[in-house]
Amino acid sequence: MIFVMFGAPASGKGTHSGKLSEALSIPCISTGDLLRAEEKKGSPLGKIAGSYMKEGILAPDWIVLSLVCARIAEQDCAAGFILDGFPRTVEQKEALDKMLTVMGDKKVTGVIQLDVSREELISRYQQRVNEDIAAGKTPRQDDNQQAFERRLEQYAQWTAPVLDAYRAHGVEIHPVNGNGQKHETAASVKKAAEKLGADFTTAMGRLRGQGSLVSKDPGIHLL
Ligand code: ADP
Repeated sequence: MIFVMFGAPASGKGTHSGKLSEALSIPCISTGDLLRAEEKKGSPLGKIAGSYMKEGILAPDWIVLSLVCARIAEQDCAAGFILDGFPRTVEQKEALDKMLTVMGDKKVTGVIQLDVSREELISRYQQRVNEDIAAGKTPRQDDNQQAFERRLEQYAQWTAPVLDAYRAHGVEIHPVNGNGQKHETAASVKKAAEKLGADFTTAMGRLRGQGSLVSKDPGIHLL
């Protein structure tokens, strides 16, 4: 199973792909996290990517693609994975298709599209900044008004067309209303994943075996 969690900045992609990953016992790969980890390491790739990210601009495809290609070739991805924040350009989608083909004729199973209104996106990002400050943490460097507006623009210009490209290639897309409470969205994400063939019974069995059925986020009850 290879799922793409699709949505605008602050739509809840990270939260819901994380929960799905836990429930299905397959890794969640966030390109934002991969890039931030690379930046933290101080590698040349990370430094270049960071200069784009802080402005709210997409990192160059060649950097993102090299990180994703290495990550999805790892052993823990063999049974499937969830992509959070990738692909974000039509070129990334096409490169992903090629990577999957050479990795054993694999394909994206489907796309779960989180639909959240612009007002809600803005209110969530502001809430995240306030929560970070209240907790004594420094907000993400791209969580400021100028960078956030630019992230929304980049999403409309580069990322929204990726959905059309999947549609044109006959890949199933399941829209989910992401405006409500976390648990409501989580339930809809679960239903969308089931429609795409996800087997939560088996995943639950596996999780029980590992003793990790309890979600780390008490606000979310996916299963
Ligand atoms: P959000 O979706 O809220 O913007 P992310 O952590 O997914 O948060 O992304 C943060 C930033 O990382 C993006 O604004 C962009 O600069 C960079 N980034 C993440 N994923 C990609 C990608 N697939 N392609 C290019 N840049 C990316």
